[in-house]
Amino acid sequence: LVQLSIPLNFMGMIYREIKQALIDIDDMFLILHRNPEIADRPGAPPLKVSAGTVRFEDVRFSYIPERPILRGISFEVPAGRTVAIVGPSGAGKSTLSRLLFRFYEPNAGRITIDGQDIAGIRQDSLRAAIGMVPQDTVLFNDTIGYNIRYGRWDATEAEVREAARLAQIDRFIESLPEGYDTPVGERGLKLSGGEKQRVAIARTILKGPPILVLDEATSALDSFTEREIQAALDRVSQGRTTLVIAHRLSTVIHADEILVLDKGVIVERGDHAGLLARGGVYASLWSRQRQADQAREALKRAEDEE
Ligand code: ADP
Ligand code: MG
Repeated sequence: LVQLSIPLNFMGMIYREIKQALIDIDDMFLILHRNPEIADRPGAPPLKVSAGTVRFEDVRFSYIPERPILRGISFEVPAGRTVAIVGPSGAGKSTLSRLLFRFYEPNAGRITIDGQDIAGIRQDSLRAAIGMVPQDTVLFNDTIGYNIRYGRWDATEAEVREAARLAQIDRFIESLPEGYDTPVGERGLKLSGGEKQRVAIARTILKGPPILVLDEATSALDSFTEREIQAALDRVSQGRTTLVIAHRLSTVIHADEILVLDKGVIVERGDHAGLLARGGVYASLWSRQRQADQAREALKRAEDEE
């Protein structure tokens, strides 16, 4: 996973950034993806987000030359709309989000935000405009309040609480002995996957970025938690340009467009009803997931009866 040949000065930069607080390997991975070879051009202007339209234009990409990962990807997420990406593991879904963050640059084609090629703008301004809710959320070894405030340091107490409320984590926090001052992370209270994800959602709500990238949680969540998180995600994506990498098809039903990615190409695209009617890859993914869900529910009912 982690490349060990990272130049020392880059390590120093990483060290400063993560201090000692960072304990989770996933965030480490995210930061290490900040590719040192990708530098801002001298005098690069900051991104100016007006509407927040994201476009991928015939994007081609490979991590290593012999193995193309994205083979000509074109789509648009119109301002304020939601586009979902589904497809098998290894299809290139997360790679799309890494390119949007400019952790890597396309070999061909371009990615624009409101018409500005992201290769030509300052990286800090790009990342300030995008909020990411990752699949496995990282918590700093600090208080739960700090972990939310990380989204925006100058937020007021009231804003932190409002973000927690919208992410549906407020009641949980208030039930803790020290409330917002409760230490979490490795040396503090261990949160469940669902709780951590809601902290990440609160953090993102506080950040309030015009563009969102959601990498949805998979299995670890029970269906109640999943519904709660879905409600929180729906709320945060309201009115924001949203790219959602969806593992559970039940969550993409309302997306404005669904892209089915396989081996680096978009093999189908459309809305939920259209894709079902087509009877292709999406339709079969859908029926398989339905069957798996039903089997799981039946198993759970049987267990509950015991
Ligand atoms: P998905 O999110 O759809 O599961 P990814 O975008 O993470 O897929 O990965 C697509 C492909 O790229 C996979 O085959 C993966 O092994 C490969 N890949 C991902 N990251 C790297 C990397 N840093 N170096 C080389 N190959 C990579
Ligand atoms: Mg992925």
